[in-house]
Amino acid sequence: MRTVIVGAGLVGLTTAASLRLIGHEVTVLEHAPEVRAVGAGIGLWPNALREFDTVGLDVRSMGKTVDAWFYDAAGCPMRADGYDVVDHQFLMVPRSDLNNLLADTVGRDKIRLATHVTGFTEHDTHVAVHLADGEHVQADLLIGADGVYSDVRATLLPGSEAITHAGNYAWRAVVPSGDERPEGTILTLGSARTRGGYTRVAEGQTMWMINQFDAGELVGSKKDRALRRARNVAASGWHDELLAMIAATPEEAILENQIMVVPELPRWTTDRVALIGDAAHGLSPHIAAGGTLGIEDVGVLRTELADEPDTAKALARYESARMARFEQVRAHSAAVEHAEGPADTAERYTAFSHWMLNTAPAT
Ligand SMILES: Cc1cc2nc3c(=O)[nH]c(=O)nc-3n(C[C@H](O)[C@H](O)[C@H](O)COP(=O)(O)OP(=O)(O)OC[C@H]3O[C@@H](n4cnc5c(N)ncnc54)[C@H](O)[C@@H]3O)c2cc1C
Repeated sequence: MRTVIVGAGLVGLTTAASLRLIGHEVTVLEHAPEVRAVGAGIGLWPNALREFDTVGLDVRSMGKTVDAWFYDAAGCPMRADGYDVVDHQFLMVPRSDLNNLLADTVGRDKIRLATHVTGFTEHDTHVAVHLADGEHVQADLLIGADGVYSDVRATLLPGSEAITHAGNYAWRAVVPSGDERPEGTILTLGSARTRGGYTRVAEGQTMWMINQFDAGELVGSKKDRALRRARNVAASGWHDELLAMIAATPEEAILENQIMVVPELPRWTTDRVALIGDAAHGLSPHIAAGGTLGIEDVGVLRTELADEPDTAKALARYESARMARFEQVRAHSAAVEHAEGPADTAERYTAFSHWMLNTAPAT
Protein backbone atom coordinates (compact mmCIF):
# COMPACT_ATOMS: atom_id res chain seq x y z
CA MET A 1 0.00 0.00 0.00
CA ARG A 2 1.51 3.35 -1.07
CA THR A 3 0.46 5.82 1.60
CA VAL A 4 1.12 9.54 1.37
CA ILE A 5 0.91 11.53 4.58
CA VAL A 6 0.69 15.31 4.33
CA GLY A 7 2.36 17.03 7.29
CA ALA A 8 5.44 16.12 9.33
CA GLY A 9 4.02 17.39 12.60
CA LEU A 10 3.55 15.21 15.66
CA VAL A 11 0.53 13.34 14.30
CA GLY A 12 1.75 12.96 10.70
CA LEU A 13 5.10 11.54 11.80
CA THR A 14 3.42 9.19 14.29
CA THR A 15 1.05 8.03 11.53
CA ALA A 16 3.99 7.30 9.24
CA ALA A 17 5.86 5.38 11.96
CA SER A 18 2.75 3.35 12.84
CA LEU A 19 1.60 2.50 9.32
CA ARG A 20 5.08 1.22 8.48
CA LEU A 21 4.45 -1.46 11.11
CA ILE A 22 1.61 -2.87 9.02
CA GLY A 23 3.61 -2.81 5.80
CA HIS A 24 2.61 0.51 4.26
CA GLU A 25 5.16 2.16 2.01
CA VAL A 26 4.96 5.67 3.46
CA THR A 27 5.95 9.06 2.06
CA VAL A 28 5.56 12.19 4.16
CA LEU A 29 5.16 15.52 2.35
CA GLU A 30 6.02 18.54 4.48
CA HIS A 31 5.68 22.14 3.49
CA ALA A 32 8.42 23.42 5.87
CA PRO A 33 12.12 23.15 4.97
CA GLU A 34 12.85 21.07 8.09
CA VAL A 35 11.16 18.83 10.63
CA ARG A 36 10.29 21.29 13.34
CA ALA A 37 7.93 21.68 16.24
CA VAL A 38 6.26 24.93 17.16
CA GLY A 39 6.09 25.34 20.91
CA ALA A 40 8.26 23.96 23.60
CA GLY A 41 6.94 21.04 25.54
CA ILE A 42 3.85 18.93 25.11
CA GLY A 43 1.96 17.08 27.84
CA LEU A 44 1.15 13.55 26.73
CA TRP A 45 -1.21 11.18 28.51
CA PRO A 46 -0.88 7.36 28.73
CA ASN A 47 -3.39 6.80 25.89
CA ALA A 48 -0.85 8.45 23.55
CA LEU A 49 2.20 6.83 25.10
CA ARG A 50 0.76 3.37 24.35
CA GLU A 51 0.97 4.08 20.61
CA PHE A 52 4.65 4.98 20.99
CA ASP A 53 5.17 1.72 22.89
CA THR A 54 3.57 -0.14 19.96
CA VAL A 55 5.92 1.59 17.53
CA GLY A 56 8.84 0.66 19.81
CA LEU A 57 9.80 4.21 20.78
CA ASP A 58 11.01 5.01 24.26
CA VAL A 59 9.25 8.35 24.66
CA ARG A 60 8.73 7.86 28.41
CA SER A 61 12.45 8.32 29.14
CA MET A 62 12.53 11.60 27.14
CA GLY A 63 10.03 13.33 29.37
CA LYS A 64 9.24 14.22 32.93
CA THR A 65 6.13 12.99 34.73
CA VAL A 66 4.08 15.91 35.98
CA ASP A 67 1.85 15.35 38.96
CA ALA A 68 -0.44 18.29 38.29
CA TRP A 69 -2.03 20.48 40.92
CA PHE A 70 -4.13 23.49 40.17
CA TYR A 71 -3.87 26.68 42.23
CA ASP A 72 -6.26 29.57 42.56
CA ALA A 73 -5.12 33.17 42.06
CA ALA A 74 -4.22 33.42 45.75
CA GLY A 75 -1.98 30.33 45.59
CA CYS A 76 -4.34 27.90 47.30
CA PRO A 77 -3.71 24.39 45.88
CA MET A 78 -6.77 22.50 44.69
CA ARG A 79 -7.50 19.14 43.21
CA ALA A 80 -10.79 17.44 42.38
CA ASP A 81 -11.63 14.70 44.90
CA GLY A 82 -12.43 11.10 44.14
CA TYR A 83 -10.16 10.56 41.15
CA ASP A 84 -7.19 8.25 40.59
CA VAL A 85 -3.56 9.42 40.81
CA VAL A 86 -3.18 8.82 37.06
CA ASP A 87 -6.02 11.22 36.29
CA HIS A 88 -3.71 14.03 37.42
CA GLN A 89 -0.50 12.86 35.73
CA PHE A 90 0.92 13.44 32.29
CA LEU A 91 4.37 13.24 30.72
CA MET A 92 5.92 16.54 29.64
CA VAL A 93 8.08 15.92 26.55
CA PRO A 94 10.25 18.38 24.58
CA ARG A 95 8.38 18.73 21.29
CA SER A 96 11.32 19.08 18.92
CA ASP A 97 13.18 16.09 20.41
CA LEU A 98 10.05 13.98 19.98
CA ASN A 99 9.48 15.05 16.37
CA ASN A 100 13.14 14.38 15.55
CA LEU A 101 12.98 10.92 17.13
CA LEU A 102 9.85 10.18 15.08
CA ALA A 103 11.49 11.45 11.88
CA ASP A 104 14.49 9.18 12.47
CA THR A 105 12.13 6.25 13.04
CA VAL A 106 10.18 6.93 9.86
CA GLY A 107 13.45 7.40 7.94
CA ARG A 108 14.51 10.86 6.78
CA ASP A 109 14.57 9.60 3.19
CA LYS A 110 10.79 9.04 3.41
CA ILE A 111 10.14 12.69 4.30
CA ARG A 112 10.07 15.21 1.46
CA LEU A 113 10.65 18.66 2.95
CA ALA A 114 9.83 22.02 1.35
CA THR A 115 6.96 20.27 -0.46
CA HIS A 116 3.63 22.07 -0.39
CA VAL A 117 0.48 20.08 -1.12
CA THR A 118 -2.31 22.09 -2.76
CA GLY A 119 -5.01 19.40 -2.98
CA PHE A 120 -5.82 16.01 -4.48
CA THR A 121 -7.97 14.23 -7.06
CA GLU A 122 -9.45 10.90 -6.08
CA HIS A 123 -9.85 8.15 -8.70
CA ASP A 124 -11.27 4.60 -8.44
CA THR A 125 -7.78 3.10 -8.51
CA HIS A 126 -5.63 5.71 -6.77
CA VAL A 127 -5.43 9.26 -5.48
CA ALA A 128 -3.30 11.95 -7.15
CA VAL A 129 -1.76 14.37 -4.63
CA HIS A 130 -1.10 17.78 -6.17
CA LEU A 131 2.03 19.72 -5.27
CA ALA A 132 2.58 23.46 -5.61
CA ASP A 133 5.30 22.93 -8.25
CA GLY A 134 2.81 21.11 -10.51
CA GLU A 135 3.96 17.56 -9.72
CA HIS A 136 1.35 14.87 -8.93
CA VAL A 137 2.27 12.12 -6.49
CA GLN A 138 0.27 8.89 -6.84
CA ALA A 139 -0.92 7.05 -3.76
CA ASP A 140 -3.31 4.26 -2.76
CA LEU A 141 -4.15 6.11 0.45
CA LEU A 142 -3.80 9.80 1.41
CA ILE A 143 -3.72 10.94 5.03
CA GLY A 144 -4.21 14.66 5.75
CA ALA A 145 -2.17 15.39 8.90
CA ASP A 146 -1.64 19.00 7.88
CA GLY A 147 -2.98 20.76 10.92
CA VAL A 148 -5.78 23.29 11.49
CA TYR A 149 -5.19 25.04 8.15
CA SER A 150 -5.30 21.69 6.27
CA ASP A 151 -5.22 21.84 2.48
CA VAL A 152 -6.33 18.21 2.34
CA ARG A 153 -9.44 19.16 4.33
CA ALA A 154 -10.04 22.14 2.01
CA THR A 155 -10.27 19.73 -0.95
CA LEU A 156 -12.26 17.08 0.92
CA LEU A 157 -14.70 19.57 2.44
CA PRO A 158 -14.63 22.99 0.74
CA GLY A 159 -15.79 25.72 3.12
CA SER A 160 -14.44 24.00 6.25
CA GLU A 161 -11.77 26.63 6.99
CA ALA A 162 -10.43 26.99 10.51
CA ILE A 163 -12.23 29.65 12.52
CA THR A 164 -10.97 31.95 15.25
CA HIS A 165 -11.93 31.05 18.80
CA ALA A 166 -12.91 34.63 19.47
CA GLY A 167 -10.83 36.33 22.12
CA ASN A 168 -8.87 33.16 22.98
CA TYR A 169 -5.10 33.72 22.98
CA ALA A 170 -2.10 31.82 24.28
CA TRP A 171 1.38 33.12 25.11
CA ARG A 172 4.29 30.84 25.98
CA ALA A 173 8.08 30.59 25.95
CA VAL A 174 10.85 28.30 27.13
CA VAL A 175 13.39 29.91 29.44
CA PRO A 176 16.32 28.66 31.49
CA SER A 177 15.06 27.28 34.81
CA GLY A 178 15.60 29.67 37.69
CA ASP A 179 13.73 30.62 40.84
CA GLU A 180 10.60 28.60 40.32
CA ARG A 181 9.18 26.41 43.03
CA PRO A 182 10.67 22.96 43.60
CA GLU A 183 7.43 21.26 42.45
CA GLY A 184 8.43 22.53 39.01
CA THR A 185 4.82 22.81 37.83
CA ILE A 186 2.36 25.50 38.80
CA LEU A 187 -0.93 25.70 36.91
CA THR A 188 -3.10 28.54 38.12
CA LEU A 189 -6.76 29.21 37.47
CA GLY A 190 -6.82 32.98 37.81
CA SER A 191 -9.40 35.71 37.65
CA ALA A 192 -10.86 37.23 34.45
CA ARG A 193 -10.74 33.86 32.66
CA THR A 194 -6.93 33.74 32.66
CA ARG A 195 -5.19 30.41 33.22
CA GLY A 196 -1.46 29.89 33.27
CA GLY A 197 1.73 29.07 35.04
CA TYR A 198 4.87 27.13 34.26
CA THR A 199 6.25 23.65 34.04
CA ARG A 200 9.69 22.10 33.71
CA VAL A 201 10.00 20.65 30.19
CA ALA A 202 13.54 19.28 30.37
CA GLU A 203 16.66 19.53 32.50
CA GLY A 204 17.34 23.22 33.04
CA GLN A 205 14.40 24.38 30.89
CA THR A 206 11.06 25.73 32.01
CA MET A 207 8.05 26.64 29.87
CA TRP A 208 5.68 29.37 30.98
CA MET A 209 2.26 29.77 29.43
CA ILE A 210 -0.70 32.12 29.72
CA ASN A 211 -4.08 31.21 28.24
CA GLN A 212 -6.77 33.86 28.05
CA PHE A 213 -10.43 33.75 27.07
CA ASP A 214 -12.13 37.09 26.24
CA ALA A 215 -8.73 38.74 25.81
CA GLY A 216 -10.15 42.12 24.78
CA GLU A 217 -7.94 44.60 22.93
CA LEU A 218 -4.29 43.60 22.53
CA VAL A 219 -1.92 46.51 23.12
CA GLY A 220 1.84 46.77 23.48
CA SER A 221 4.50 44.16 22.84
CA LYS A 222 3.85 40.41 23.16
CA LYS A 223 5.55 40.59 26.55
CA ASP A 224 3.28 43.46 27.69
CA ARG A 225 0.23 41.52 26.58
CA ALA A 226 1.32 38.34 28.36
CA LEU A 227 2.37 40.18 31.53
CA ARG A 228 -0.91 42.09 31.75
CA ARG A 229 -2.84 38.80 31.77
CA ALA A 230 -0.33 36.99 33.96
CA ARG A 231 -1.19 39.40 36.79
CA ASN A 232 -4.61 37.69 36.91
CA VAL A 233 -2.93 34.46 38.04
CA ALA A 234 -0.54 36.18 40.42
CA ALA A 235 -2.55 39.05 41.86
CA SER A 236 -1.68 38.49 45.52
CA GLY A 237 2.07 38.27 44.98
CA TRP A 238 2.30 34.53 45.64
CA HIS A 239 3.42 33.89 42.07
CA ASP A 240 5.95 36.69 41.52
CA GLU A 241 8.49 34.28 40.02
CA LEU A 242 6.11 33.77 37.05
CA LEU A 243 5.96 37.52 36.44
CA ALA A 244 9.76 37.75 36.73
CA MET A 245 10.17 34.85 34.31
CA ILE A 246 7.96 36.53 31.70
CA ALA A 247 9.61 39.92 32.22
CA ALA A 248 13.05 38.35 31.61
CA THR A 249 12.00 36.56 28.40
CA PRO A 250 13.34 38.14 25.21
CA GLU A 251 10.46 39.43 23.07
CA GLU A 252 11.50 37.26 20.11
CA ALA A 253 11.30 34.10 22.23
CA ILE A 254 7.61 34.66 23.08
CA LEU A 255 5.03 32.74 21.05
CA GLU A 256 1.65 34.42 20.76
CA ASN A 257 -1.22 32.47 19.21
CA GLN A 258 -4.75 33.51 18.35
CA ILE A 259 -6.44 30.16 18.95
CA MET A 260 -7.99 28.66 15.83
CA VAL A 261 -10.44 25.77 15.83
CA VAL A 262 -11.70 23.38 13.17
CA PRO A 263 -15.48 23.45 12.82
CA GLU A 264 -17.35 20.20 13.45
CA LEU A 265 -17.05 18.30 10.16
CA PRO A 266 -19.74 16.20 8.44
CA ARG A 267 -17.13 13.53 7.62
CA TRP A 268 -13.41 12.84 7.98
CA THR A 269 -12.85 10.36 5.14
CA THR A 270 -13.60 9.23 1.60
CA ASP A 271 -12.72 5.82 0.11
CA ARG A 272 -9.01 6.70 -0.15
CA VAL A 273 -8.50 9.82 1.96
CA ALA A 274 -8.59 10.41 5.72
CA LEU A 275 -8.05 13.41 7.97
CA ILE A 276 -6.19 12.93 11.23
CA GLY A 277 -5.00 15.05 14.17
CA ASP A 278 -5.67 18.78 14.19
CA ALA A 279 -6.67 18.67 10.50
CA ALA A 280 -9.77 16.75 11.62
CA HIS A 281 -10.43 18.21 15.07
CA GLY A 282 -8.22 21.16 16.05
CA LEU A 283 -9.64 22.47 19.32
CA SER A 284 -8.73 25.15 21.84
CA PRO A 285 -5.63 24.09 23.82
CA HIS A 286 -7.27 24.66 27.21
CA ILE A 287 -7.83 20.89 27.45
CA ALA A 288 -4.12 20.35 26.60
CA ALA A 289 -4.84 17.05 24.89
CA GLY A 290 -5.20 17.75 21.15
CA GLY A 291 -1.90 16.04 20.38
CA THR A 292 -2.67 13.13 22.69
CA LEU A 293 -6.03 12.57 21.01
CA GLY A 294 -4.43 12.89 17.56
CA ILE A 295 -2.07 10.07 18.50
CA GLU A 296 -5.10 8.07 19.63
CA ASP A 297 -6.48 8.62 16.10
CA VAL A 298 -3.32 6.99 14.76
CA GLY A 299 -3.81 3.83 16.85
CA VAL A 300 -7.39 3.46 15.66
CA LEU A 301 -6.45 4.06 12.01
CA ARG A 302 -3.60 1.54 12.19
CA THR A 303 -5.85 -1.09 13.81
CA GLU A 304 -8.69 -0.65 11.33
CA LEU A 305 -6.35 -0.78 8.32
CA ALA A 306 -4.64 -3.89 9.71
CA ASP A 307 -7.95 -5.69 10.43
CA GLU A 308 -9.94 -4.76 7.32
CA PRO A 309 -8.42 -5.42 3.86
CA ASP A 310 -10.97 -3.16 2.14
CA THR A 311 -9.45 0.32 2.65
CA ALA A 312 -12.74 2.17 2.15
CA LYS A 313 -14.42 0.07 4.83
CA ALA A 314 -11.46 0.48 7.19
CA LEU A 315 -11.58 4.28 6.76
CA ALA A 316 -15.35 4.30 7.34
CA ARG A 317 -14.85 2.41 10.61
CA TYR A 318 -12.07 4.80 11.66
CA GLU A 319 -14.31 7.77 10.89
CA SER A 320 -17.26 6.40 12.78
CA ALA A 321 -15.22 5.60 15.91
CA ARG A 322 -13.34 8.90 16.00
CA MET A 323 -16.26 11.21 15.18
CA ALA A 324 -18.26 9.62 18.02
CA ARG A 325 -15.33 10.10 20.42
CA PHE A 326 -14.89 13.72 19.40
CA GLU A 327 -18.52 14.52 20.07
CA GLN A 328 -17.70 13.71 23.69
CA VAL A 329 -14.37 15.57 23.59
CA ARG A 330 -16.14 18.70 22.34
CA ALA A 331 -18.65 18.49 25.17
CA HIS A 332 -15.86 18.16 27.75
CA SER A 333 -13.90 21.00 26.15
CA ALA A 334 -16.92 23.31 26.33
CA ALA A 335 -17.57 22.29 29.95
CA VAL A 336 -13.99 23.14 30.98
CA GLU A 337 -14.06 26.42 29.08
CA HIS A 338 -17.27 27.57 30.76
CA ALA A 339 -16.46 26.38 34.28
CA GLU A 340 -17.33 28.83 37.04
CA GLY A 341 -14.18 29.59 38.99
CA PRO A 342 -11.08 27.60 39.91
CA ALA A 343 -12.62 24.69 41.86
CA ASP A 344 -15.18 24.04 39.14
CA THR A 345 -12.44 24.21 36.47
CA ALA A 346 -10.27 21.70 38.37
CA GLU A 347 -13.28 19.40 38.78
CA ARG A 348 -14.31 19.57 35.11
CA TYR A 349 -10.76 19.21 33.84
CA THR A 350 -10.17 16.12 35.94
CA ALA A 351 -13.53 14.70 34.86
CA PHE A 352 -12.27 15.11 31.29
CA SER A 353 -8.90 13.43 31.88
CA HIS A 354 -10.58 10.58 33.80
CA TRP A 355 -13.10 10.07 31.00
CA MET A 356 -10.39 10.26 28.30
CA LEU A 357 -8.17 7.69 30.00
CA ASN A 358 -10.94 5.28 30.93
CA THR A 359 -12.64 5.23 27.56
CA ALA A 360 -9.51 5.27 25.37
CA PRO A 361 -9.65 2.72 22.57
CA ALA A 362 -7.62 -0.47 23.10
CA THR A 363 -5.46 -0.44 19.97
C1 LIG B 1 -0.57 26.61 23.21
C2 LIG B 1 -0.86 25.16 22.91
C3 LIG B 1 -0.58 24.20 23.89
C4 LIG B 1 -0.90 22.84 23.66
N1 LIG B 1 -0.61 21.89 24.62
C5 LIG B 1 -0.89 20.59 24.40
C6 LIG B 1 -0.57 19.60 25.38
O1 LIG B 1 0.01 19.88 26.42
N2 LIG B 1 -0.90 18.29 25.12
C7 LIG B 1 -1.51 17.91 23.95
O2 LIG B 1 -1.78 16.71 23.78
N3 LIG B 1 -1.81 18.83 22.99
C8 LIG B 1 -1.50 20.15 23.19
N4 LIG B 1 -1.78 21.08 22.22
C9 LIG B 1 -2.38 20.63 20.95
C10 LIG B 1 -1.28 20.04 20.05
O3 LIG B 1 -0.19 20.94 19.96
C11 LIG B 1 -1.84 19.77 18.65
O4 LIG B 1 -3.05 19.06 18.76
C12 LIG B 1 -0.84 18.95 17.82
O5 LIG B 1 0.42 19.57 17.76
C13 LIG B 1 -1.39 18.74 16.42
O6 LIG B 1 -0.46 18.01 15.66
P1 LIG B 1 -0.70 17.77 14.11
O7 LIG B 1 0.46 16.96 13.66
O8 LIG B 1 -2.10 17.29 13.89
O9 LIG B 1 -0.66 19.23 13.44
P2 LIG B 1 0.56 20.26 13.31
O10 LIG B 1 1.50 20.12 14.46
O11 LIG B 1 -0.05 21.59 13.05
O12 LIG B 1 1.36 19.76 12.03
C14 LIG B 1 0.87 19.98 10.73
C15 LIG B 1 2.06 19.91 9.77
O13 LIG B 1 1.55 19.97 8.43
C16 LIG B 1 2.37 20.85 7.66
N5 LIG B 1 1.53 21.36 6.58
C17 LIG B 1 0.46 22.19 6.68
N6 LIG B 1 -0.08 22.41 5.48
C18 LIG B 1 0.66 21.70 4.59
C19 LIG B 1 0.58 21.53 3.18
N7 LIG B 1 -0.37 22.11 2.46
N8 LIG B 1 1.52 20.74 2.57
C20 LIG B 1 2.50 20.12 3.30
N9 LIG B 1 2.61 20.26 4.64
C21 LIG B 1 1.69 21.03 5.28
C22 LIG B 1 2.79 21.91 8.66
O14 LIG B 1 3.97 22.61 8.22
C23 LIG B 1 3.03 21.07 9.91
O15 LIG B 1 4.36 20.57 9.98
C24 LIG B 1 -1.48 22.44 22.43
C25 LIG B 1 -1.73 23.42 21.43
C26 LIG B 1 -1.41 24.75 21.66
C27 LIG B 1 -1.70 25.77 20.56
